[in-house]
Parts: sequence; C-alpha cells; structure tokens
Amino acid sequence: MSEQFDVIIVGGGPAGLAAGLYAARMNLSTVLLERGPLGGQLLNTELIEDYPGFESVLGSDLAVKMGDHARKFGLDVREFQGVHGVDVAGDGTKVVRMDNEVVLTAPALIMAAGGLPRRLDVPGEQEFAGRGVSYCAVCDGAFFKNRELAVVGGGDAALEEGDFLTRYASKVYIIHRRDQFRAQPVLQERARANPKIEFILEAQVREIAGDQMVQRVRYVQRGEDRELAVGGVFIFVGFVPNSGLLNAHADHDEAGYLLTDRNMQTSIEGLWAVGDVRAQLTKQIATAVGDGTTAAVAASMYVESLKDRQRAGVA
Ligand code: NAP
Repeated sequence: MSEQFDVIIVGGGPAGLAAGLYAARMNLSTVLLERGPLGGQLLNTELIEDYPGFESVLGSDLAVKMGDHARKFGLDVREFQGVHGVDVAGDGTKVVRMDNEVVLTAPALIMAAGGLPRRLDVPGEQEFAGRGVSYCAVCDGAFFKNRELAVVGGGDAALEEGDFLTRYASKVYIIHRRDQFRAQPVLQERARANPKIEFILEAQVREIAGDQMVQRVRYVQRGEDRELAVGGVFIFVGFVPNSGLLNAHADHDEAGYLLTDRNMQTSIEGLWAVGDVRAQLTKQIATAVGDGTTAAVAASMYVESLKDRQRAGVA
C-alpha cells in the first residue's frame, strides 16, 4: 500500500508538531508519523518553565495542546506508527517505509525524529534496565518512594531530573565525572539548595550491581574505588540523534546530528532536519518550534515551486 503527500514529517515532538501545524495551515497535504504518543521529549519532562508564554506547564499537557492545535489545521497525525527507514528515490521523491509495511511518499520530508538517551556503557546497565536503571524520571520516579537514588550526569537533564526525583526519593546522589557542571546556573542553584541532593564529583561510574533489582553503584573517585547503596540509577549522560533512519547520505557531524542550512534543509534537496536530530547549540522547546516553523515554510516554497514546474511542463 502506498500513500502520497506534499509533506511527510517524521517525529511528533515540538519540532515536528510545529512543522505540522504550519504545513497543514498552508494547505499542504501533510502527515506526521510518531512511533509512540505525541510529545517526544516533552513526555520525559515534568514541569516546563522556560517556554515563553507558559510560566509553568506540564510537559504532557503541552504535548496534548500542541497536538490538538496542529490537528485543528488538518494535520494527519499518526501515532504509534514506527518508521522503518527513509529513502530518497532517483527523482528526489522521499520514500518512507513504515514498520507495518505501508509506504508513504512526498517531495518534501521533515526529519523531526529527535534521539534516544545515550547509554553509560557500564556492566549492569543493560541487565538492570527496567529493574532500577532508568532514563526517565517522570516515567519511573514514583517507583522509588523513600529510596536512595543515584543520578549520573552533569547536564541540564541530570540536574533538573535529579531535583524532580527528590519528590519521591529520600536522597539523590548526583554522580558527575567532572567538578564543573554543564547545566544552566539556575538548575545548578536549585539542585544545590535542595537538602536531599548530594553531589559526588570527579567520579566515574564503573558498574551497576544488585540481585533482582539494583542495589548499588560502583564508581571511581579521584583514583579510589567506591560504592554506594542505592535502589535505582537514573542515567542522563546525553542524547544520540535518530539520524540513522535516513538511508541516503546527508551531511552530519561526528555525533550523527544532521547539518542544515539556515532554512533547516539538509544536504539533500527537499529534506529538512529540525529539533533534537539537528546539529545546533541547544535543545530547547522554543528552538525546536522555531526549527519546525522555518522548515515548514521552506518546504511549502519547495513544494509550490515543484508544482509550478510541473504545471509549466518543465519537470
Ligand atoms: P548534555 O548537556 O549533553 O550533558 C550530558 C552530561 O553527561 C554531561 O555532564 C557529560 O559530562 C555527562 N556524560 C556524557 N557522557 C558520559 C559518560 N560516558 N560518563 C559520565 N558522564 C557522561 O545532555 P542532557 O543533559 O541530556 O541535555 C541534552 C540537551 O537537552 C541539552 O542541550 C540541554 O540544554 C537540553 N535540556 C534542557 C533542559 C531545560 O532547559 N530545562 C532540560 C533537559 C535537557 P561532561 O560535562 O563532563 O561532558
């Protein structure tokens, strides 16, 4: 089965939803494919306090609002539809193969597939995944009421989610490999002011161990082997972009983030990258929404120019 659109959007986080809203509102036939529920990283965040106009909003509420808003303009939203791969045909058509074997085609494709949490790559991490090892505080924090937890990482996610976890945990140890944090100062101050948080700095986690569930984390701190008894380990050591869905070569950086021009177009004509899958300074909701908007406007101009050429009999 094959379906044809003007624009296909892969990924239903803020970048994809903003692109979908704009593309649908510009009367392009637009489909958005999301392998889970709509929201992307919004669903891994409890409270959002840095999206202009929303002093404080639940990530899940903002996801629903963005989805409803885009649907209102006619965006065809398909949740729980995994994309197997994206190809580019010889004539430039973008071909999306779905896990369910449906094939979708369009001249324009906006890659908004975000990424997945980076693994720490230590013994026990995989073994205890779902049994005390987690990558999502909002999803799993409530399972750890009155337990002591370890959070690994020193970026925004580690400090923000570490703070969030103190709602449930009796104590949260933030284990970071350096003595300086990458996280924004405001998040550092909040974590420092939280009496339930203790920092373990210049410490590299070596192993997560336990029996049925996580019981301890082993680390090396300034050359010394140490061990901490914890009921869970939350890992926030960054992000790996989902650019591998693309079978055709598009320019990317060494970490796999897609490189774009100022209109969000990748090195492939008619293929844009927005949000967390794109190489950029920061991964914020506001920048993701901006990326999506720019890409949708650029995609609209591209689709219209192709239609003009077809009408003129050039293509
Ligand atoms: P990040 O900023 O890349 O930070 C990753 C952290 O993990 C760094 O502290 C890094 O240490 C550490 N790390 C990486 N590999 C490690 C390893 N193998 N072993 C031990 N530690 C390791 O990632 P993030 O915190 O997930 O944030 C990703 C993006 O989302 C950022 O752009 C961030 O601004 C954004 N974000 C924003 C918010 C917010 O604004 N409220 C919330 C969450 C995320 P080093 O510092 O030593 O490299």
